[in-house]
Amino acid sequence: MELRKGKLLHDGKTKKMYAAPADDRLILSFKDNVLFYDSGEITPVKNRGKFAASVSATLFRLLENYHILTHFIQSLKPNEMVVQKLDMFPLQVVVWNCSASHFSKRYGIEKGKPLDHPVIEFCWKNPKVHNPTIGLDHAIAFSLAKEIEMSEMVAVARKINAVLKSFFERRNLILADFQLEFGKSDRGILVGDEISLDTCRLWDVQGGQTDMNRFRLDRGNIPKAYKELFERIGVHV
Ligand code: ADP
Repeated sequence: MELRKGKLLHDGKTKKMYAAPADDRLILSFKDNVLFYDSGEITPVKNRGKFAASVSATLFRLLENYHILTHFIQSLKPNEMVVQKLDMFPLQVVVWNCSASHFSKRYGIEKGKPLDHPVIEFCWKNPKVHNPTIGLDHAIAFSLAKEIEMSEMVAVARKINAVLKSFFERRNLILADFQLEFGKSDRGILVGDEISLDTCRLWDVQGGQTDMNRFRLDRGNIPKAYKELFERIGVHV
């Protein structure tokens, strides 16, 4: 579908954000870049833009089916989507179902171990201080979000976790951890940004890890991993 992009409003690490003809909407254009969250490194990957946009569109539609409000309105070009404009919280909500990456290092829990209860954490999106993990008091003290908003984000993140976990389980994939961003609109608090293979760490039930970390030593494998996962997830790009 053709829709005229307006002014470039933000040129981020993995996405560009454009004004849309309607004031309350935006056009997100996904770049062919992968961001490695643990190290902050960015690496170009052919077609990542359309992969991330199509997985996000599929997962946002899935969440909407479960009455979880998201910013997704419609797909445009393969790497673009129209979304509702949100007033974003400068936070990332991270949901851990298994010990992995820096969670494992921080708490000394062996990588790959399923947790008895999902752990939900907030990170403050502030690169100057390396996006630290924060608690409720920090969020209130730094005016990042109100207590009631934090509680709502936790409740919605738990619901999203339940939906996504079973979605991936049906495809023989374990959702080890993932991250979300939320924002405010006149419809309340909505899930924004992207939910893609770059923001979800997925492990094969058979034991092979399919998250991007696995490919850090051999970046040439990333497109292959995307393709494998698409086939498993049933997303068409
Ligand atoms: P960064 O800005 O960290 O480099 P991206 O490249 O992903 O990250 O850029 C996308 C930006 O758009 C992020 O800052 C994200 O918070 C913001 N964003 C995502 N969805 C929306 C939305 N619906 N309304 C407003 N901003 C959004």
